[in-house]
Amino acid sequence: MESDGNNGLGGDEISLLTEELIQLSVKSSMVEPNGKFSLICSIWTEKSYNQESFKAQMRSIWKTNKKFGIQGVGQNLFMISFESEEDLETVLEGQPWLFRKQLILFDQLSKSMARDQIRLVSSPFWIKTGPYLPEFDKKDLLHAVGVTFGGVLRSEILGEFCRLRVKLNVQRPLRRGIFVSIGNGNKFWIPFKYEKLPTFCFGCGMLGHSLHDCTEIAPAEENKIREDPPFSLALKAKLNLVGRESLKLNALAKKLQIQCSNVGKSTEKQEEPSYNEQSSGMIREPQNDAWLTTKTADLEMQKEE
Ligand SMILES: [Zn+2]
Repeated sequence: MESDGNNGLGGDEISLLTEELIQLSVKSSMVEPNGKFSLICSIWTEKSYNQESFKAQMRSIWKTNKKFGIQGVGQNLFMISFESEEDLETVLEGQPWLFRKQLILFDQLSKSMARDQIRLVSSPFWIKTGPYLPEFDKKDLLHAVGVTFGGVLRSEILGEFCRLRVKLNVQRPLRRGIFVSIGNGNKFWIPFKYEKLPTFCFGCGMLGHSLHDCTEIAPAEENKIREDPPFSLALKAKLNLVGRESLKLNALAKKLQIQCSNVGKSTEKQEEPSYNEQSSGMIREPQNDAWLTTKTADLEMQKEE
C-alpha cells in the first residue's frame, strides 16, 4: 500500500494501490514561439505529404544568413524559428512560397497561441493588371482595385500595366479580373494575372486542388469543363520585366541556370525549371547569391502539371 499525501484527492484521502493511479502527460494545446523571430506555417492542400520532405525542401531553398529551425507543431503545422530578424523578413517578403506547387501559408508567431486559434487563410501575392486605356488614371484605378482586395500592400506602374501586392484570401476563388465602368456607361474588362500562382482548380477557381480532385464539380461534368474551363492558365503572369530589373535578370540568368541543376534533387522529384514563371518581384533585390538559389528552386516547383 502506498499513499501520496499530495495526490489532489482532497480531505478524505483514500489509500491507493500503485496500479490505481496512472499519470498521463497531455500534450499542450498551446504553440509557444521559439525565440523572438518565429513563424507559423501550413500548406494549403488536402493532399497528404511527408513532413520531413517539407522540412528538407525548405532547408534547401532558403539559404538564410543565419540558422533557422523547423519543427512540426501539429498536423500540417510547423514553427520556423530564425536567429535573425532579417532572415524572417526576407522569407515573408519572398511570399508566396510553394511546396510541390501548393501554397505555403505563413504568419508571425509573437506570443503563445492555442493551436485551434491559429488561422492561416491568406497570403500576399503580386498581381499584374492591365493593359489600361491611356485615359485611365492608373493611380486612382490601382487604389480602387486594391480596395476590392482589402487594400494594397505595395504597387508599381509599369507602362500600361500595374503590379499590385495584395493579400489573397485562399478560402475564396481566384478573381479573374474586374470591370471598370466609365462615365458614358461603357465597361472595360481588366484581367488579373498572378505571379507565382500555385496549383488551382480550373473548375471552381480555388487554390489547393486541381480540377480532377474538385469536390464542387460532379465527375460527369469534368470533361465538359475541361473543354472550356472557367479558370485557366491565363491567370498566371508570365515573365515580363522592364528596365533595370530586366538587366539585372539577364546578368544573373547564367548563374541561375547553373544553380538550377543543383537544387531540389535530393528530396523531391526533379522538375524542369520554368523561367517563364519568373517575375520581377522574385528577383528585385537579391540579398546575395544564396537567395538567388532560393528563388530558382522555388521556380522549379511551379511547373505546370
Ligand atoms: Zn475545384
